[in-house]
Formats: sequence, structure tokens, C-alpha cells
Amino acid sequence: MKKLLFGFALLFSQLGFAQQTSVATQYAELITPSDLKDNLSIIASDAMEGRYTGSRGQKMAAAFINNDFETLGLLGPVNGSHYQTVALASSKPGGIYLKSGVTRYSNFNEIIFLGDTGSGGEVSLDAVFVGKAAEADFAYIDVKDKAVVILADDLSFNVLRGLRKTATSAREKGAQMVLIVANGKPEEFKPFADQLKGFFGKGSLSLIKPDQQGGNKGMFIVEQAVASKIFNTPFEKLFKAASAEPSKKPLNKIKPSRIVYQVAMETKTVKSENMLGYLEGTDKKDELIIISAHFDHIGLHEGEDKVNNGADDDGSGTVTVLQLAKAFTQAKKEGHGPRRSILFLTVTGEEEGLFGSEFYVTHPVFPLANTVADLNIDMIGRIDPEHKDKPDYVYIIGSDRLSSELHEINERNNKEYTKLDFDYTYNDENHPTNLYKRSDHWNFAKNNVPIVFYFDGIHEDYHKPSDEVSKIDFDLLAKRGKAVFFTAWELVNRDNRIAVDKK
Ligand SMILES: [Zn+2]
Repeated sequence: MKKLLFGFALLFSQLGFAQQTSVATQYAELITPSDLKDNLSIIASDAMEGRYTGSRGQKMAAAFINNDFETLGLLGPVNGSHYQTVALASSKPGGIYLKSGVTRYSNFNEIIFLGDTGSGGEVSLDAVFVGKAAEADFAYIDVKDKAVVILADDLSFNVLRGLRKTATSAREKGAQMVLIVANGKPEEFKPFADQLKGFFGKGSLSLIKPDQQGGNKGMFIVEQAVASKIFNTPFEKLFKAASAEPSKKPLNKIKPSRIVYQVAMETKTVKSENMLGYLEGTDKKDELIIISAHFDHIGLHEGEDKVNNGADDDGSGTVTVLQLAKAFTQAKKEGHGPRRSILFLTVTGEEEGLFGSEFYVTHPVFPLANTVADLNIDMIGRIDPEHKDKPDYVYIIGSDRLSSELHEINERNNKEYTKLDFDYTYNDENHPTNLYKRSDHWNFAKNNVPIVFYFDGIHEDYHKPSDEVSKIDFDLLAKRGKAVFFTAWELVNRDNRIAVDKK
């Protein structure tokens, strides 16, 4: 009798499990290559103008997502709306110059200004040469209220990065402005200036934070001839003084001199938006799973093909989120609604600095403490060169960092259903690309919310106008979308909330 009862119970529970899985499979089938293609052909069309944060094209994409959420019957969790406004400060270099005597130098020509804060009119300061800005140099040179001129080894991004620290330390000692002059061939300056103009000339965005105390006051990088003019000393002599033994106080030989500069930044407030679609759960509705992607991209480009379509980055993630929303809402309509709630979250400002997701986690619509996991999709429609001959893969990043259960669930569902090759190359904490911190999931992980980041790798069209819809493998996109779906399905329906067991 007992045995029979046991057998019966086992049979019953197996039946229940089988039923659940066939239900999941049934709704996963709603993630189709043709639907994904229809939506992506709009989201990544030239009409969307590359979806630059705050631009007309980005707002058109937002309207498209809004319409899709409405059609599906998702709730708007921001006072009834799907729009969460994200305010950003846009700052762009305006009139910027530096003068020594009557000679005037202009930005991106003989000088390059890097920073985002204006000087508030013309500023006149004494400039002092501090050589390589070692502590031994600062020990005998007074830099308080001065402009300091620092000698760098060469003009490169690496050296620049290192100099940010040096500049901060000079400012802590009271310096008002920092000028950098680099050793190396003088003719290398102009191409470097042109390169930086490409990056910074069109301006930059930043999140407006209530406690923001001024931005980055910045620094000038100047040609050797400019430094030479300021100190009325040949560059070779400056170089020699900077290289000499500090105990002899060699920098005292270079006499301070007056400079005048002005930094005007054109600043304005730009309004952008995250798009939120909410599907309420049943008996565990206070707990939330987020499925996210960023719908912004890098905008227009100079050249013949002007539009950075961002079909893969991250049009592919955006349309996958919409497709998962469709599958889960359809399931709910037919009596298979998720036990936990789901927030379909497409964010803005990712390309400019993960701003949309940062804004969401600092202004969460649902408590982060109740947020069980974030499944983030950023680029899943292409095949990278490493997988040319074995395309059934996806890179998985971050799944094991905070929750062993999340990792196990993601693995097991893939083995059961999608059977993709999960590649963990980029999950290595020491991988130089540092991808764990380079898309929106990072803002959740920082807040102890377990995440999985789904990614297809770096390909030749990354951040180029050639990231086009025609290059997307829609069968593969659907398959990867299903992998996210099955993991999400278990996360929302299982009895126990997954545990955070790692730090
Ligand atoms: Zn990108």
C-alpha cells in the first residue's frame, strides 16, 4: 500500500513537472525568427538615426517600444506610464583658447582641452614647470593657485590615463589648472588632436545627480612649441630640467610665466527615457525578475553610410526583450502567468556610460531588495570570428558571481532545451575586456542583484554603420532568446527565490 502510494505520488509529481516543461516549451515557440526580424527591421532602420541618447531617433524607438508594451497589455509602472524620464547634462566644448603673451592657441589645434567644466570667463594664472610631477618636484615648487605644466613620456591614451592621477594630486596641492606637454615627435601632436576631437568634440553626456559638486575641471594638453613659448625656453631644455636630479632643484631654472585661458562649455539638459513594461505575478508577485537590454546606440557617423544602425548592439537585445514579453503575456492570458512579477526593461544611455540602468537602480520602481535577478541581453544576433565554424554558442558572463543557483538554473535549462555551447571565456575575472562591468547588468550586480549577461562577442562591425539588420542570424537570435526565456521561466515559477550565496 505504502509503496504504491509512493509510486503514485512520484508519478503524479513527474507528471506535474512534465506538464510545466511542456508549457514552457509551448510559449518559447512564440520567440520566432520572423517576429524578431520584423521588429529589428524597424528598431535598427535608418529612420531611427542610430538611436543616440536623447535624440529624435532614440525617442522614435521609445515610442515603438511603448506601443509594443501597450499592445501586449503590459502595465506602465511609472504612474501608469511605460516612460521613466532620465535627465542628463550634455556638455560640448565651445570657445576654448589659451594665450601666452599675445600668441593665442585654439582647441584641437595647438592645444587640447579635456574636461567638462567651463572656466567662467577668462582666467589669468602664473604657470610653473613641475617636470614629471614627482613628489620630490612638488617639495620645492609652490603650485598653490598656479597652472602647473607637467612633462609626459609620450602622447598616448595610456599615458593620459596615468596623468589623470597626477593632475588630481597637483590640484590637491592647490594647482588651479594642469597643462601637459609630451616628449616625442612634435608632428605627432596634430593627428592626436584630431583623434581626440573625434571622441570629445561632439560633446558628452552625464547623469544629473543632485549632489554633484562641479564636474571634471580638466586639463590642457599642449604642443611642445606652446610650452616652449610659455617659458621662453627651448623644449630640449625643459626636458633636461625635468630629467635632472631633483636634489639640485633643476626646475627652479625655469622661470614662471603668465598664461591666460578661457574654457567655454555649451551645456544643456537632455531628457531621455527608460522604457518599462510590467507583468504582474500571482502568488509571489512582490518578487521581481528583470529582463533588460539597452535600446540606445551611438547615433550618426560622418561618411557615406551615416547611420550606426546598432542592429546587434543592442537592437538584438531590445527585440528579444519584446519577444519574451510577448511569450510571457500570452502565457498569462492562457492561465500560465508567472508566479513572480517580471519587469521588461529597455534602458537608454548605455553607450554613453550605462546611464539608464544607473538611473533605474538609483530610482528603482520596485525595491531592489525584492529584485531577484536581472537577465541582461546586449548583442546576441551575430557570430564572432572565434565561432565561425561552431555558431551555436553564446557567451555567458556573471551568472556565477553572486548566486550558484542562478548559474545552475541557466546551465540546466540550456542543457535541457536550447543546447547552446555556453562559452565562459569573458567570465574570467582577469579577462582584460572586463565585460562584467561593461553593460547594464553591472548596475544591478553592484547592488547585489544576481545577473546573467548574454553576449555574442566582438565582431568587425562593432560600433560601425555596418552593424546592419542584414548581418543578423535570426535563427540563432531566436535560439539564444529562448535560452534566456527558459531561465526566466524557472526563475519566476520556482518555489524558492534563488539565494545570493557569494560576494
Ligand atoms: Zn555598444
